[in-house]
Order: sequence, then structure tokens, then C-alpha cells
Amino acid sequence: QAKAAGRRTWMRYDDSMETAIRRRATLAGALHKALDRGELRVVYQPRQSLASSRITGAEALLRWSSPEHGEIPPADFIPLAEENGMILEIGEWVLREACLAQRRWREHGLSDLTVSVNMSVLQLLRGDFAEVVRRVLDDTGVPPQALELELTESVLMANATQTAQKLQAFRELGVSLAIDDFGTGYSSLAYLKRLPITTLKIDQTFIADLCHDREGASITTTVIAMAHGLGLVVVAEGVENEAQARFLAQHRCDEIQGYWVSQPIDAMSCMAFIHNRQLAAGQRAGAVGAP
Ligand code: C2E
Ligand code: MG
Ligand code: MG
Ligand code: MG
Repeated sequence: QAKAAGRRTWMRYDDSMETAIRRRATLAGALHKALDRGELRVVYQPRQSLASSRITGAEALLRWSSPEHGEIPPADFIPLAEENGMILEIGEWVLREACLAQRRWREHGLSDLTVSVNMSVLQLLRGDFAEVVRRVLDDTGVPPQALELELTESVLMANATQTAQKLQAFRELGVSLAIDDFGTGYSSLAYLKRLPITTLKIDQTFIADLCHDREGASITTTVIAMAHGLGLVVVAEGVENEAQARFLAQHRCDEIQGYWVSQPIDAMSCMAFIHNRQLAAGQRAGAVGAP
């Protein structure tokens, strides 16, 4: 009898594995058609300066609404797209969408914003990615200074020597480079110093801990000081409340991103949001400066 029970347990395990594998295969198949069917879209999450309260730019985040499978988070489908190489096509599409949004913002007078695009390691390691970026910038008429590419820390560390060289090509193009999810990998100071990066984004897990435990707070203040020592702009991710924002302002973090500023929203809403915020910030500045 024990044997039978053991067998059933094994079969259940086997079934659930098979279900997971089948789901991945189904999703991967659906993803193949998603781009052509217009199921993918890009949303934008604004980023705010703590010193001036101005919106400095926005991060492009990919969304997939599948008629068959519903809303699928990027954490579920980006790895699939990386496995089958589709991330190259999808990534270029996101880049183009983000640059088109940036052009529209600029046409409406929002000229000093940066649009940030997440980049997969597969894109970075492909030979001609700098060429792809240059072409998209050319096609859309967006200046390189208005674009920032984000790479996760773990990706940079896993391919240390190769990436350092690759990144140089982007800096020569004039685009900014951010290291994303910082604190989750194992970057050494010496290594960070060698990378031609401009921005460091502190991972949201540290920000979540900021006001509850001393470790979260001290990691954050240490990272801010270190980044400033290296001449980098520091952005805190996942800022959800005023207490976190105030702590970060007190410790001279440069910018914040998170639900406290805004959820990720579509390109038109983002433009309206930024427009309203800049007007408000301008009025506040005017009020302070008035006699
Ligand atoms: P990420 O680049 O670190 O993006 C930040 C994530 O935090 C986003 O999740 C965003 O929606 C979420 N977030 C923003 N504010 C808050 C907050 O206040 N609290 C909390 N708890 N979360 C917040 P999302 O959109 O689900 O994206 C997850 C990850 O998927 C991204 O992390 C990025 O690594 C990847 N990703 C998204 N779009 C793309 C893309 O176009 N290309 C590539 N290669 N990766 C992408
Ligand atoms: Mg990012
Ligand atoms: Mg991040
Ligand atoms: Mg992340």
C-alpha cells in the first residue's frame, strides 16, 4: 500500500511538472504571434528628481495581454523570449516604441526627458546591437542623450569582460547606461568603476525594507554614497510611500521611481502626467522665487 501511495505522489509530481512544461510551450507559441497580433504594448513609469520635484523621464515596461491567457507579467514571458531568441525582435520593437513615444513628448514641448529601455543580455551580446540602436534613433529622430538603456546587475556580472567592451560602444553613441536591480548581484567596486555606466538603480527589495529594518537603510545609504563617489546618478526603484521618499531625499538620493510617483501608464497618459507635474513644479519654483 505504501508503494501505491508513493507511486501516486510521484505521478502527481510528474503531472504538475508536465503541466508547467506544457504551459511554457503554449505561452511560447502564443508569444510568437503576440507581436503580429498587436497583443504587446509598452507602458511608461515616470521618474522624479528629489531635489527639484521635476519628472526627469520614464521607464518603458512591456505588457502582454493575451486573449487566451490573459495578462501575463514580463517576469513570466521575458525568460521565454530569451530562451527562443524572440527577445531580439521584441526588444527592438520596444526600443522603437519608446523612441516614438519620446519623439511625441518632444513634439509637445517636453524636451529634457530621458526614456529608459530595459535591455536583455541577448541583445547586448549580439554583434550589431549598437547599430540597431543607432538606426532606431535615426529613424525616430530622437537624440542619443534622450535614451537610456538599463541592464541588470546580474547580467553585467555574468559576462563581465565581454559586456564592458560592448557597453563602450553605446557610450560612444551618446546614450546613457543604467545598472538595474543594483544590490542583488555581486558587483565589486573595482568592477563598477571600469564600466562606462551613468546611472545606478537601487533594487526595490532594499527600498521596501527602508523604514522597517536597519540593514535595508544602511545598504541604501551606503550604495548612494558609493554611487556618488563614482559620479553616478542614483535612482531608487519601488518607492511606494512618503516615508521612503523622505528618507531617500534626506540621504541625497537623486531620483525616485515607484507607485508613490506613478504607476506605469500608457504613453499619452504619461505625457499628460508629466505636463501637469512640470507646470506644478514651475509654479512652486515661481512662488518661492517671487518677492
Ligand atoms: P525592472 O526593470 O526592475 O522594472 C521595475 C518593475 O517594478 C516593473 O515591473 C514595475 O512595474 C515594478 N514597479 C514599479 N514601481 C513599483 C512599486 O512602487 N512597487 C512595486 N512592488 N513594484 C513596482 P514589471 O513591469 O512587472 O517588469 C518586471 C521586469 O521585467 C522589469 O524589472 C524588467 O527587468 C523586465 N522587463 C520589463 N519590460 C522589459 C522589456 O521591454 N525588455 C526586457 N528585456 N525586460 C523587460
Ligand atoms: Mg528596469
Ligand atoms: Mg529594477
Ligand atoms: Mg527587476
